[in-house]
Amino acid sequence: MMDLERENRRLQSTVNNLLARIEENHKIQQHYHDFEFQLLACTGLQELLQHLLVDARHYFELDAVSLVLLDRDYSLRDLLSKLEIPPFDNNLQLRNSEDFFNVMYPRPPAVKLGSLDVLAASRLFPGLDRLGSAACLPLVRRGRFIGGLHFGSLSSNRFSADKAADFVFHLASIVALCLENCIGREHLRRQGQVDMLTQVKNRRSFTLEFAKELERAERGGDPLTCMFVDIDHFKKINDNYGHQVGDLCLKRVAQAVHKQLRKTDLLTRYGGEEFVSVLPRCQAAQAEQIAERIRAAVAEMEVLTDDHRHISVTVSVGMSTWRPLGERAADLEHLGKQLLSQADKAMYAAKRDGRNRVCKLAFSQV
Ligand code: GH3
Ligand code: MG
Ligand code: MG
Repeated sequence: MMDLERENRRLQSTVNNLLARIEENHKIQQHYHDFEFQLLACTGLQELLQHLLVDARHYFELDAVSLVLLDRDYSLRDLLSKLEIPPFDNNLQLRNSEDFFNVMYPRPPAVKLGSLDVLAASRLFPGLDRLGSAACLPLVRRGRFIGGLHFGSLSSNRFSADKAADFVFHLASIVALCLENCIGREHLRRQGQVDMLTQVKNRRSFTLEFAKELERAERGGDPLTCMFVDIDHFKKINDNYGHQVGDLCLKRVAQAVHKQLRKTDLLTRYGGEEFVSVLPRCQAAQAEQIAERIRAAVAEMEVLTDDHRHISVTVSVGMSTWRPLGERAADLEHLGKQLLSQADKAMYAAKRDGRNRVCKLAFSQV
């Protein structure tokens, strides 16, 4: 009888323990699920990176989080440089070859839980002096390895190989899916804003940003310069060397102009072989210097064709500067059009005066 009671108590205790573990697992699962929902709700790459690299640290009570992404063609680097994202210190790394991951992950890639050797720890968590344990989550989409997400803890028993990896495994698949989606969407968004050939803004996105700059200038009372840059005798380049070489010249001119501008200036391909730049918060004298630098940079550059021919290109630049006078302009859209039209007129004056020169027209509101 006594034995039966004891056995019963033992069984009861085992059941209770099991129930407690199920309850605990359920809580952990719910915790992971909630985080995954937050990731799935992200609408942009910045927001997703913020969740993964900053919020995850607090959410999962970690000491470090790092994300390493494979970027074979540097397209991600290019994309990130155009987004206004916080630096994330060294927690976000881009690698252009799989070598880095080959050292970190077995083949086929699998979740790794536990301690890391010193080299791996210093590579994955550059800011952390010592690491207790880590969870390394390989990110795979449609069978392709895209990177790794790494959770680090100072505690040596936070992550260990004997613990269930299902939660982190599932999280890794959601992270990979969200990254692929957000990066793809960001690329598409950018493609909709840039001119395919020259990679500067297209007319549509320029028009939107120009309107914002006009409002900003009016609010702040800062001068705003509009600049037309038109390639001289471009038709002859096409006729003499062919359209492909013409396209190459367009690309090179766009790059040369862009290089002379400040980060806050706008540049668009306004028409076939003409570019428009808007320089906010820029005094007329400084704008003139920039215009002259653009003219000189293009004139000094030599375009080298595939068959080793050197081509010289020049541009004519027209500019006009608007200085808000304090009172609100009646119609900013109209004002914007006038400013563009004055700069365009100035550019034609530069053509008439012999090309390869800068001409400015004082802005007067009609
Ligand atoms: P000007 O010095 O007076 O500006 O003379 P221009 O020859 O540059 O000007 P015009 O307007 O007569 O010719 C512009 C040429 O630009 C005609 C057009 O075929 C060419 N063009 C427009 N878009 C492109 C393009 O995307 N690629 C190439 N290769 N040529 C283009
Ligand atoms: Mg031209
Ligand atoms: Mg033209």
